Amino acid sequence: NLTDRLEGVFKKLRGHGRLTEENIQEAMGEVRKALLEADVNFGVVKEFIAAVADKAIGREVLTSLSPGQQVVKIVHDELVALLGSQAEPLKLDGRQPVTIMLAGLQGSGKTTTAAKLARLLKEKGRAPLLVPADVYRPAAIEQLQVLGGQVGVPVFASTAEQKPVEIARQAFTAASTGPYDTVIFDTAGRLHVDDELMVELREISQAVPLSEILFVADAMTGQDAVTVAEKFNADLEITGVILTKMEGDARGGAALSVKKVTGKPIKFVGVGESVDALEVFHPDRTASRILGMGDVLSLIEKAEAVVDQKSAEQLAKKIQKNAFTLEDFLDQIQQIKKMGSLEQIMGMIPGINKLKQIKDAPQPDQKELIKTEAIIRSMTLKERRNHRIINARRRVRIAEGSGTSVAEVNRVLKSYTMMLKMMKTMKGKGIMTGGKRRKL
Ligand code: GDP
Ligand code: MG
Repeated sequence: NLTDRLEGVFKKLRGHGRLTEENIQEAMGEVRKALLEADVNFGVVKEFIAAVADKAIGREVLTSLSPGQQVVKIVHDELVALLGSQAEPLKLDGRQPVTIMLAGLQGSGKTTTAAKLARLLKEKGRAPLLVPADVYRPAAIEQLQVLGGQVGVPVFASTAEQKPVEIARQAFTAASTGPYDTVIFDTAGRLHVDDELMVELREISQAVPLSEILFVADAMTGQDAVTVAEKFNADLEITGVILTKMEGDARGGAALSVKKVTGKPIKFVGVGESVDALEVFHPDRTASRILGMGDVLSLIEKAEAVVDQKSAEQLAKKIQKNAFTLEDFLDQIQQIKKMGSLEQIMGMIPGINKLKQIKDAPQPDQKELIKTEAIIRSMTLKERRNHRIINARRRVRIAEGSGTSVAEVNRVLKSYTMMLKMMKTMKGKGIMTGGKRRKL
């Protein structure tokens, strides 16, 4: 990993002096390699390296970080800044119905993403209408109909005999007069950038007022992503980007390339074929991933923090084996007390990052934590290892022993079982086993 490699470069420098031009140049060689390995476009890498080197030279070496870590941090921060600092939401205010057109090459994931977006918006309480406007690819309309069925979102009844611009117009009228507040247009793609396609997409954008034109790109395409993104942006004035196939081996370099050449925000990432595999884009996570270091940065930033990699790994193992007991819960609580939040600890465990997005994840405060700790401490070892035996009588005893109430004991048990459940769902979705790519 990059940090290790940089440690080598900076071995001599540890503990004294400033980052000099010479050692920065050497370090930048390593950074360059890391970016290219992540499939960031050559040109983009070159520019980026030059900018970062400028920033790094002359910086004082902090005592809390090794020079290698420090350079990683500078590089990481710069990446995050370039990627957009924070997630940018869809434009859903203003004129209704909101209209979103998806555009991109064939196979980039437009049709799938249309359904994923519809699902997400429906969950937010909106009333979307899916509109198939790909009249070329055989069965493209049926594909969207099937996906629409899966997410429970109506699909406009277009036919392959119609012109896409006609479909768009009719669907927009239908949505404006019907019970819809969001229209999602799925469009045709080509294997390569093609003027005829651009003309067709522009026609649609002139025929109906579009709130968003989202360029859908396959993150696995790597170097090519740049030229394609440039062309779509120039011809269509896209408003944002969705990167698909970001799970698995894609290191996320395309994110940097596409953002750099279009200047448009990446709004979502697709992380799987199923209709729920769409996530809001997080620049910081992607930056870590591009550098190939999982969430090692949060560990660096908490240089004095008590949670070490080992205990995180142990926890991950326990979760995997379904052996996360109340005792482990107690351990975690103690860590949390020292560190800040459950989220932070969870974030450091490889592969477990998605927990952050689970809505009802417990958000403990210090007072609650102390109480929780007291309650678990009042349990016998047997109870801690098997929460199922904690019946009503035992709950009364535990409440008395900890100076709390049965209701509070119940609450602790509930948040523990909730955590268990979340861990199971994560495992079910393969998140835990997919942890490979996040290296600590
Ligand atoms: P379109 O030609 O742009 O409409 O692309 P499709 O939506 O038909 O998707 C092409 C293929 O990519 C299909 O097999 C999808 O299941 C797959 N796909 C789309 N998004 C993702 C993603 O985020 N991850 C993975 N692994 N596959 C995806
Ligand atoms: Mg399609």
